[in-house]
Amino acid sequence: MTLLQSALGRKQRLLVLVYGLLFLALSSSFADITIHGDRYMSVRDLGRALKMQYRVVQLNKEVRLSNKKNTLTFKVHDKGFSLNGTRVFLGAPVVLRGGRFYVSRLDYERLILPILYPEKSANPPKLYHIVLDAGHGGKDQGTESKRYKLKEKNLALDLTRKLQKRLEARGYRVTLTRSRDEFVALSDRSRKANRVNADLFVSLHFNAAQNVKAAGVETYVLTLPGQASTSRDKKVAADNKTYAGNRYDSWNALLGYYVQRSLAQGMSVPDRGLKHARFAVLKDLQCPGILIEGGFLSNDTEARNLGSAAYRDKMAERIADGIIAYQMALNRVRR
Ligand SMILES: [Zn+2]
Repeated sequence: MTLLQSALGRKQRLLVLVYGLLFLALSSSFADITIHGDRYMSVRDLGRALKMQYRVVQLNKEVRLSNKKNTLTFKVHDKGFSLNGTRVFLGAPVVLRGGRFYVSRLDYERLILPILYPEKSANPPKLYHIVLDAGHGGKDQGTESKRYKLKEKNLALDLTRKLQKRLEARGYRVTLTRSRDEFVALSDRSRKANRVNADLFVSLHFNAAQNVKAAGVETYVLTLPGQASTSRDKKVAADNKTYAGNRYDSWNALLGYYVQRSLAQGMSVPDRGLKHARFAVLKDLQCPGILIEGGFLSNDTEARNLGSAAYRDKMAERIADGIIAYQMALNRVRR
């Protein structure tokens, strides 16, 4: 009898120990790690914070978080990740340490969270007066397609007018930084938006690359302070500067995500992603803003498409839809 009791006691103690360890393993989070002075959180903790399931897709290479609403897929060493199928660039690449995946805490707090849970961001801006900025103009032609005799400055102005029509039809007030073929200095563009108290700024451009195969759409928002722009790998001292436009980082991310998503899904072109750059027209804005690169004039197939008014009509429609999706997200936040 006493022998049996003590045996049960041992077994129970063992069970308590096993359950205790299991509980610890399930509830404890990994400590943040620091790389070159930047804090990183484990993707598993990120999933736990957002109540998402954690699944390693490919050992030491790819990891996925998902719940009913959202799916995020990260790849080691990549800045680009998939957010519900739309490509979004982190400010710092995903890191693997001790078999665990890590994401920069700045990216979690200032990029991922504001897109997935905008209600956690403070002070949702109003959205009525939109300033549209047709890139280049006058002596500044931008890029071109010699084959199809297309100039970026003309396409940008035409797309701007098409977008203006759609936005006005949906009840927005629209102001243009230029309404004809004239030169406007970069600093005057954001200054004009600030002067009229714009609620939103959208700059429209077309791309060019040495690689003639490069194709697709990309949307830019102002780079977060403390991060390198998407085109660069290494951070430099100047990356720590905060600009006026950085006040709207959370809303920039939300706006950029919805517009890039609408464009990439609607135009059937490669999704080059939501990216980060410190473009002159974005730095000094006193409202949320994005810069859209609507396609490559250096790619003959895309240039032919971009030369078609119907194609540009469709593009204007998709950009307007993206802005409406952003507006609806703002409405949900205010509720
Ligand atoms: Zn341009």
